Amino acid sequence: MDLSYILNHLGEEREQYFQAVSPPIMQSSNFTFENVERMRASLQDEMDTPFYSRGCNPTVAILRKKIAALAGAEDAMIFSSGSASIAAAVLSQVQAGDHIVCVSSPYSWTNKLLTKMLSRFGVTHTFVDGTQSTNYEAAIQDNTKLLFLESPNSLTFELQDIGAVVALAKARGLITVMDNSYATPLYQQPIKMGVDIVCHSASKYLNGHSDIVAGALVASKEMTRKIFEGEFMTLGGIISPNDAWLMLRGLRTLPIRMEAVSRHTMEVVNFLHEHPKVEKVLYPFHPSFPQYELAKAQMKGSGGLFSAYFKAQDMSSMQAFCDRLERFLLACSWGGHESLIFPTCVLHQSENYRTTEMPWNFARFYVGLEDPKVLISDLSNALGAL
Ligand SMILES: *Cc1c(COP(=O)(O)O)cnc(C)c1O
Repeated sequence: MDLSYILNHLGEEREQYFQAVSPPIMQSSNFTFENVERMRASLQDEMDTPFYSRGCNPTVAILRKKIAALAGAEDAMIFSSGSASIAAAVLSQVQAGDHIVCVSSPYSWTNKLLTKMLSRFGVTHTFVDGTQSTNYEAAIQDNTKLLFLESPNSLTFELQDIGAVVALAKARGLITVMDNSYATPLYQQPIKMGVDIVCHSASKYLNGHSDIVAGALVASKEMTRKIFEGEFMTLGGIISPNDAWLMLRGLRTLPIRMEAVSRHTMEVVNFLHEHPKVEKVLYPFHPSFPQYELAKAQMKGSGGLFSAYFKAQDMSSMQAFCDRLERFLLACSWGGHESLIFPTCVLHQSENYRTTEMPWNFARFYVGLEDPKVLISDLSNALGAL
């Protein structure tokens, strides 16, 4: 199935809604039936027929088909956030007494899922440096059930060799779950490499306009049904029909957004790489990146996220640099139209993050859809503060 078909037609049964080009927002919590027999039939297939919107909503159903096809998966489930999709995926696979091997420093709320929540229910974990797949192997115990990957991560971008970790898991009958938010299904399709469950924060590139929080999970039909009947319906972390519609609209332009963002980022990264006030730039598709070869082999593109260490005298000059930026907005998250900076100095001297290991001369950048010349000139000007 070609990408244009997926984004423009798949799942859109226009004859059902007046041949409208844009699908309706089916803003209804429940659906009615002509007779008992039809109601009974629908109840038997709550995942695929509209009965109650926690299970199946027609607007969300269109999105589900598109996300599954984009990822090369049999099926998909859409959630109210990326974190909800990760929690559902992991919870669905473990019980008391089980053990998880997880890449070190995953997304912060994935970390909390393992360290603060699952630990309360008797599920243990080991964090490993995932740049060597042998570290996963060494951490596997008799009670290990699940290997968790996030490649690359969204701050320092370490990769895992997905094929190698999948091979380890398959040889031992372990489940693999991977956070693929960084690469999107356009640049990396872990399902096709044998990963069992792949999660996405759709708040980032998939929606792409910084106006909704949403998530998605893709897997086999059997796996999604298991999660639907368990965690999905029980925890009920569903997307609203209105947000699903916004995401459908955002998805239409995913390929051109990703292409522009990747091209702009390379220009900005090249500028910073040469700048005397910059100590080091981290971007998986820059030849200076430690895992450049693996990145090129595993991914088709690298998108708009990169990080840099700056030659700053002290934290106040680092802060002055960030404050002087006019086009890069100071904010968390990424994947929208707007360029952003998230400096780690914000975590220092902060009550919530008293123990950050990140140095204060580090910042994560996201390059959006603006003209890279404008962004480079903004950086050039602000670097005068260092
Ligand atoms: C943002 C993010 C998440 C969480 O997604 P939400 O939609 O904010 O819940 C998970 N993983 C990564 C890598 C992210 O960047």
